[in-house]
Amino acid sequence: MGVFKTAPEDLRCLVLNADYQPLSYYPLSTWCWQDAIKAVFLERVDIVSEYETQIRSPSFAMPAPSVVALRDYISQDRPPAFTRFNLFLRDGFQCQYCGAKGVENMTYDHVIPRAYGGKTSWDNIVAACAPCNLKKGGRTPKEAKMPLRRQADKPNMHQLQVQGRKFPPKYLHESWLDYLYWDVPLEA
Ligand SMILES: [Zn+2]
Repeated sequence: MGVFKTAPEDLRCLVLNADYQPLSYYPLSTWCWQDAIKAVFLERVDIVSEYETQIRSPSFAMPAPSVVALRDYISQDRPPAFTRFNLFLRDGFQCQYCGAKGVENMTYDHVIPRAYGGKTSWDNIVAACAPCNLKKGGRTPKEAKMPLRRQADKPNMHQLQVQGRKFPPKYLHESWLDYLYWDVPLEA
């Protein structure tokens, strides 16, 4: 396949679930055009919107899909993986002690220190900036007089999706916008 008006790497395709919500907001679910076209031919997705750019091969030509929707709904009820990224996402990339925001200098902290038997689990790990982590050291929030802004708990996929929506990707093709923000409450 070849012959492009624009570079192929520009032709990313937004992937929606069968309910036309993005599969994931952050990172935003997108495929390269090759994967998008493969899924079209396998009849796993419907094309919702297209680029003007044609994908051509000896046997066919078609516009590159810019938005596709899965035919089979993928459940969002599965528990989120306990990863550093999901943990930071739950906490909004915000230090849970002082409120500092950002990804640089962000670490994770055992609320109840490991030396006290604190576990590495959703309800005992929070995002903390490096200075707070250092300051708190091997103490509990009470001992360190550093109360948590919010009690740590295990999020569900929906909560992470809500968080992810606050961090829009840098690049959005205009045809994606309708599907990204239509469920955002309108401001009065
Ligand atoms: Zn901090």
